[in-house]
Amino acid sequence: MRKSEGSPTVAIVGGGFSGAAVALHLARNQEKGREARIIVFEPRAKLGAGLAYDTAEPTNRINVPAGKMSLYPDEPESFVRYMDRADALADDRGALTAEGVPYPRRSVFGDYVASEIAPYGSAGVIEHRRSPVLEVTRSGNQWAILADNGQVLTADIVVVAVSHPAPTLPKALLPVLPHPKLVADPTKADAFEVIAPANRVLIVGNGLTSADVVAALEQRGHYGPIISISRRGLRSRGHPAVAQEPYGDFVSKPITHASEVLRRIRQALRAARQQGLDWHPVLDAVRAQGQQIWQNLPVVERRRIARLARTYWDVHRFRIAPQVESVLDQAVESGQLNILAASVAAAAIEGQEIVVDLKQRGLDAQHRITVDAIVVTTGPAHGSILQSQPFLATLEEAGVLTPCATGLGIACDLHARAIGADGSAERSLFIAGPLARGAFGELMGLPQVTEHAVFVAREVKALVAFSRLPSKAGQSVRAARGIAHAFASCSERDG
Ligand SMILES: Cc1cc2nc3c(=O)[nH]c(=O)nc-3n(C[C@H](O)[C@H](O)[C@H](O)COP(=O)(O)OP(=O)(O)OC[C@H]3O[C@@H](n4cnc5c(N)ncnc54)[C@H](O)[C@@H]3O)c2cc1C
Repeated sequence: MRKSEGSPTVAIVGGGFSGAAVALHLARNQEKGREARIIVFEPRAKLGAGLAYDTAEPTNRINVPAGKMSLYPDEPESFVRYMDRADALADDRGALTAEGVPYPRRSVFGDYVASEIAPYGSAGVIEHRRSPVLEVTRSGNQWAILADNGQVLTADIVVVAVSHPAPTLPKALLPVLPHPKLVADPTKADAFEVIAPANRVLIVGNGLTSADVVAALEQRGHYGPIISISRRGLRSRGHPAVAQEPYGDFVSKPITHASEVLRRIRQALRAARQQGLDWHPVLDAVRAQGQQIWQNLPVVERRRIARLARTYWDVHRFRIAPQVESVLDQAVESGQLNILAASVAAAAIEGQEIVVDLKQRGLDAQHRITVDAIVVTTGPAHGSILQSQPFLATLEEAGVLTPCATGLGIACDLHARAIGADGSAERSLFIAGPLARGAFGELMGLPQVTEHAVFVAREVKALVAFSRLPSKAGQSVRAARGIAHAFASCSERDG
């Protein structure tokens, strides 16, 4: 029998990395006799992989060295040790760089997380329900969760960990939607089956996903020309040849203006250069201090950064795996890959081909190209997350969830509790993972996502502890009934 029968129920919606990591850290830190029932809703077969790590594509590699990715902030070597134990690189000769640094396939990281969580599943501490959640509604002081299989679960605490919605198609590409070679979501299995090696391909977007697409096409023997476009034509940067310690201090003297953030970064870059360092350690310092920098800024300045500096930030902080970088470099060098600063002005199907009018940055005239296939890599549509699926839309309609003011996710306070339309925080509804970054700041790379999951697990644990008080007879009683206000909406808006 489940040990936590009769205990508060914690429902985690989304069992990608964030949801799985919250479940795991909650499970391993529960107090004896105060265990919650932990249920993770995740349609994927494996817990812990999510969009990033649930991929069978062999060219999809983690984009930082394996030693920087771990489920446990105080055990950075945990993933590397797993790889040794599982002999995970045995069939992957390309995993090590010339310097011997491992950049395994992303699926290996998914396997690692799944293997860490598995014992809790076998012990009945964490339950994986493979049904997507369709609706979450308030039910007194609890939450009613309707899953796709028609079952309704009543939970005391809900953690929303659904992070990455499907990408939205740029409007100009809508006329091309019926074309069989429009790949609107390249993360889907077999997405590239429709593209023949000789095809002329347009990739819309120039970030890491675009790089993944080029690597995947190359792996399939692609030799047709590829044009990859983004508004500024910026390409994700690689890692330094030699690792350097983070350089720069952006928090001792708090910064309260976006322009000052940029000024201080430029200053640090100049100082680094004088010491023979390149830009990597400076951007690493900004990333490490990113949450504090962000939280020192008023919302209007955060918005300014999200609007004006995000593209530049993304290409410098999301580094590309060396193996993928070298594929891109060779494709550029051979003339097969052309990276342009341009956007799609119009697109139309003509016979089997697609005719695209490109608006090149800095040029008035449009440039017409004809391609056989288009791959959209503009990334998950985080800005419209609350419209991305019914359970989020319903919670927004009920005033429980609101979009965050920066347009980067869902509004929450610095306890990760969702902030509703009346400005108050929901005590028992948490936002885990990148969707909380409007409040917390830099929260996309694995190290920060891990730390955030540990933090959310701690917050949930505190609420679970608060919810179970020993009765006179020495038994526990349900707080939801005795101290109803613990789960009710609170009116303060911290952070
Ligand atoms: C393609 C990609 C590659 C990345 N590579 C790296 C990397 O190499 N290194 C690094 O440091 N960072 C990387 N990141 C960043 C970071 O690791 C991820 O953003 C992080 O894994 C986020 O995981 P998540 O669980 O929050 O979100 P997701 O991976 O989006 O997981 C959310 C889960 O929720 C489930 N879900 C959605 N709706 C419902 C519903 N209604 N009911 C139930 N379940 C639902 C989905 O099936 C999904 O599994 C990458 C990100 C992406 C997108």
